[in-house]
Amino acid sequence: MKAFYAVEQKQHNPKAFLSSGAPQPNPEQPERTERLLLGAKAAGCAIERPREHGRGPIAAIHTPEYLDFLEHIYTRWQRIEGASEEVIPNIHPLGRNGRYPASAVGQAGYHMADTACPISAETWDSACWSAWSAVEAAEAVMSGAPAAYALSRPPGHHAFADAAGGFCFFNNSAIAAQHLRKQAARVAILDVDLHHGNGTQGIFYARPDVLTVSIHADPVRFYPFFWGHADERGEGPGLGYNLNLPLPRKSGDEAFLEALQPAFRRIRAFAPDALVVALGLDAFEGDPFGGLSVSTPGFARMAEAISSLGLPSVIVQEGGYLCDALSDNLTAFLTGYASQ
Ligand SMILES: [Zn+2]
Repeated sequence: MKAFYAVEQKQHNPKAFLSSGAPQPNPEQPERTERLLLGAKAAGCAIERPREHGRGPIAAIHTPEYLDFLEHIYTRWQRIEGASEEVIPNIHPLGRNGRYPASAVGQAGYHMADTACPISAETWDSACWSAWSAVEAAEAVMSGAPAAYALSRPPGHHAFADAAGGFCFFNNSAIAAQHLRKQAARVAILDVDLHHGNGTQGIFYARPDVLTVSIHADPVRFYPFFWGHADERGEGPGLGYNLNLPLPRKSGDEAFLEALQPAFRRIRAFAPDALVVALGLDAFEGDPFGGLSVSTPGFARMAEAISSLGLPSVIVQEGGYLCDALSDNLTAFLTGYASQ
């Protein structure tokens, strides 16, 4: 399977993270790229560097204000006396019906959903290359590859059209799906990350051409809290084109594989021309987030089941944090996918 990654994606190096109010080291560490590269290579992937694709495919998902914010906020932030090194918001609008703020502090609150996505000097570059890896994987599939893998890091599925959040800046899975739409009339996104893909859901919520399906730990007591519940089904023309399948905490292989069945029924009924798999590996039983209990062989079984849909597939890396089995879990998934 072709795989895409650019070394610039490793430069983003977030330091801070508030967990239940307490400062912690940010889990979205550059070392993830090393572990994931090892895992992809062990699955027989040839790693290729994506081409630069400019703003075009990213701007097909994200707003101009957000792109300008993300490109320039670090430099603007440094001009604030006494400001932190990383851009971290300290105020958020309760709703989006107020004025668009002119100040850097106001815009940080407007465009950053939480404190888990600090912006440093390297963030813009890393996020662009992460998105371009997803675009390149989409192009490989559009050129006839049955499947391609984007080692997208920083991850993307918590990013909305105009907001970063949860370690994510550009929604790489959404960007890949939108890019596939150049050829494909209908695209399905299946998100198997531990956390609900709230940004992806939000981006396509009113659209019937991109089906969004997410299996995740029940958000009633888990990030992202405000989204990911079973009764969120889409709106307007998109009503019925979003499916959430929350699982009880600590659910393991059998529960996860069982949840794939309603996901598959919905995807088959939608009859997409292509599939994006938002591949989080943080549903693993040994992941530091500890939300679900999928095993390493469980990822292989998950991949075999998904690939049996027989759809051209862009596999986009989402979460999955530093633990001994991170490489093996990716190898298990990609090998399972390729074996079908
Ligand atoms: Zn996650």
